[in-house]
Amino acid sequence: MKVGILGGGQLGRMLLQASANYVVETYVLENDENCPAAPFCHYFIKGDIRDYATVYNFGKNLNAITIEIENVNVDALEKLEKEGVIIYPTPSALRIIKNKIAQKEFYKKNEIPTSNFIVTQNAHQLIENIHFLPAVHKIGEGGYDGKGVQLLLDKTSIDKGFDAPAVLEKMVSIKKEIAIIIAMNSQKQMAIYPPAEMIFDPELNVLNYQISPAILSETILQAAETIAKKVVQELASPGLFAIELFVDENNTVLVNETAPRVHNSGHHTIEANYCSQYDMLWRIILQYPLGNPKAIIPSSIVNLLGADDKSGIAIYEGLHDVLQMDNVFVHLYGKTITKPGRKMGHVTIVSHNYEELTLKANKIKHTLKVIA
Ligand code: ADP
Repeated sequence: MKVGILGGGQLGRMLLQASANYVVETYVLENDENCPAAPFCHYFIKGDIRDYATVYNFGKNLNAITIEIENVNVDALEKLEKEGVIIYPTPSALRIIKNKIAQKEFYKKNEIPTSNFIVTQNAHQLIENIHFLPAVHKIGEGGYDGKGVQLLLDKTSIDKGFDAPAVLEKMVSIKKEIAIIIAMNSQKQMAIYPPAEMIFDPELNVLNYQISPAILSETILQAAETIAKKVVQELASPGLFAIELFVDENNTVLVNETAPRVHNSGHHTIEANYCSQYDMLWRIILQYPLGNPKAIIPSSIVNLLGADDKSGIAIYEGLHDVLQMDNVFVHLYGKTITKPGRKMGHVTIVSHNYEELTLKANKIKHTLKVIA
């Protein structure tokens, strides 16, 4: 079977690593031939995943295509799907998720709990709706990794809003941020992973580390799982999805957003779950039985980001010390150049003891640095 991946980042790299367990010929489409996924595929094709003709020509002789980033040409995927290529997630699901306005309207239409919102087409409409603040302004298309999101606390911050079609969401009083990875095959069978909890640095407001399974009450867990299942059921698309959720101060669970692909919040499933998110997606694409998503052991993840003041050839300071720690798994993405905040790798820690997971995560954060 010939399977193509649109995008060649670290998620593609890890997906390709998992493909080594199956008989599959892999193809990657990506503009940068030095991308993390390039050394792990059978065929690398240089090209723009947003361009219609490039995506169509890449896909027309393949059996199946998946994505590792949403920013792809959906029209080309739609045509390929009509011609019989398996596209997971389906182009129609991708179209809903790719645009934050369409995504929020999808939740509303299907009565999936999410924060209240209005749509603003431009800066003028944003100002007209100033009474809606405090709110979060999210650009409809083209914003990734926090670049398309602005917190608008009051009218003094209104200038930070987008002069383009966007969603203005009520600010949620967040108690916890959790994520659930959920997979569905072509027979509509589902596999749901235990939730992961994101622990943020309260001062810097960046993700400090992640812990899984999240410790939640049975009621919250059930509400979260019900939302995750409903999202995938209504999207009606085979594939693997990450559902990002908020638990607010009243313990209400709301969906924040969905990613229709393998996700950062599922890195730990390589070591800590019976079937990793990457293996799960291959099983779905190759029409094999679903795997077991349960946790073998609790885990935490620390993301390795390029140090703030360093750009250039990456140096991994403290790597020897971290590799000496027990039950710690280092994943470097093979990026030659580091930049402030660039995702350069992650470290997974496993332990039956949650306190040890937290202590080791903090120790690793302070020990392992990507400098230049
Ligand atoms: P991105 O797609 O760039 O990751 P998100 O929609 O996940 O953007 O938002 C990034 C972060 O902003 C979230 O993790 C959360 O901390 C905060 N955030 C997003 N929406 C809201 C909201 N409605 N209320 C409060 N905080 C929010």
